[in-house]
Amino acid sequence: MRLTSAGAARTVTGSCHHLDLGDFQLVVDCGLFQGGAELEDLNRAPFPFEPRDLGAVLVTHGHLDHVGRLPLLVKAGYAGRFLATKATADVAAIILRDAAKLQEEDFERDLRKARRAGRESELLGPLYTLADVEAAIARFQNVALHEPVRVAEGVTATFRPAGHILGSAYIELRTREARVVFSGDLGNRESSIQAPAEPPGGCDVLVIESTYADQTHPTRAETEARFQVALGRSLGKGGNVMIPTFAAERAQQVLYLVNRLMSAGQVPRLPVFLDSPMAAKMTRLYQECACDFRPEIADLIDAGQDPFEPPTLRYAVTADESKAINEVTGGAVVIAGSGMLTGGRIRHHLKHNLWREEATLIVVGYQAHGTLGRLLLEGAKRVKLFGEEVVVRATIENIKGFSAHADHDDLLAFMTPTGATHVLLVHGEPEVMDGFAAELRRSGRRVSLPEFGVPTDL
Ligand SMILES: [Zn+2]
Repeated sequence: MRLTSAGAARTVTGSCHHLDLGDFQLVVDCGLFQGGAELEDLNRAPFPFEPRDLGAVLVTHGHLDHVGRLPLLVKAGYAGRFLATKATADVAAIILRDAAKLQEEDFERDLRKARRAGRESELLGPLYTLADVEAAIARFQNVALHEPVRVAEGVTATFRPAGHILGSAYIELRTREARVVFSGDLGNRESSIQAPAEPPGGCDVLVIESTYADQTHPTRAETEARFQVALGRSLGKGGNVMIPTFAAERAQQVLYLVNRLMSAGQVPRLPVFLDSPMAAKMTRLYQECACDFRPEIADLIDAGQDPFEPPTLRYAVTADESKAINEVTGGAVVIAGSGMLTGGRIRHHLKHNLWREEATLIVVGYQAHGTLGRLLLEGAKRVKLFGEEVVVRATIENIKGFSAHADHDDLLAFMTPTGATHVLLVHGEPEVMDGFAAELRRSGRRVSLPEFGVPTDL
């Protein structure tokens, strides 16, 4: 039995792991590489396996870095199904359609540039189109949580809740030789909305993410208290509050907390705008899914209430509805993408508000180096938006603790009961993985750190 990673190997994106069982091959996840040209070039690299020969593809959750290359598997001849929970298939459909749109837009922009430079012939086509994405979406086959699914003679897969985002699962694979668990992305046990990952049973081999293996997240109580203070102070000033979020999970975490605080009268009840058509679609999935939320959320849903809809919520779908938000005075909460302020409608709101002393930007997510979000957190006094320089007078608040990923203790809490003797660390930055690997080896485990395309014997 051999495992070969075609992504998330000493990096955090592009999750794709190929398991060769001799007479049967399968892949777990097939995500997009993201975060700079060098990594993104890997999206065009050939897979270190033959997609036509795969007997099954299993999908842990719908994030782009776990599903973004599924259309390429189909294009390369994979003729089977993508096994995933229903919620994962629904999340993936929204995310893949958006990705196709961005791929096509990027290609159009590159084409215009190439034409001007007379280098049109050198340009590669878009990675995939909306038609490719629709072909991939049609391949999803829903699996129920907790129930073993037969994927081949003598091979079953059981999906169990991972507590990361809507529909997320880790996968227990039983073969004749061994029990292998693929963690996918594991949730933060201090999440405000997701129930913690279900404790795994025993296994021989554990393929586990390690994104935040070097960190300890704040408690849920600390995070929620800090958010309440920041939101209350901002709304009390009557200025607009901008909260940049990604469409899946973070937007719903923020909606849930804003709803709870406003409904309980703990912060002023001012208008709330969800200014992202994609986040609105995603929120509908959260509202309709009887998924593994925390008990207090499940209780609200059972009682016919909507935990993700603050009393004053308005959805801005069209560009005109988004622009109209700029006319609002006296304070409002605006939730929009993108999460790191690198694009999306949030940039328009920043342009209209960053120069206002009474406005506030509440950062609830990780901001990578070089992004506008990071510049603002570092105290930039002027930033460029749409070619104009904007003076920063707004308050910038940074609330950590909204992470949807397991921290060091979560990872160990997941790993320990499995009794796995061989642990493969994936989905992490090299320095973080090396530190975690050393710690695990001290406890006597065999630890492997797969490299792209290099097989590991299990
Ligand atoms: Zn994820």
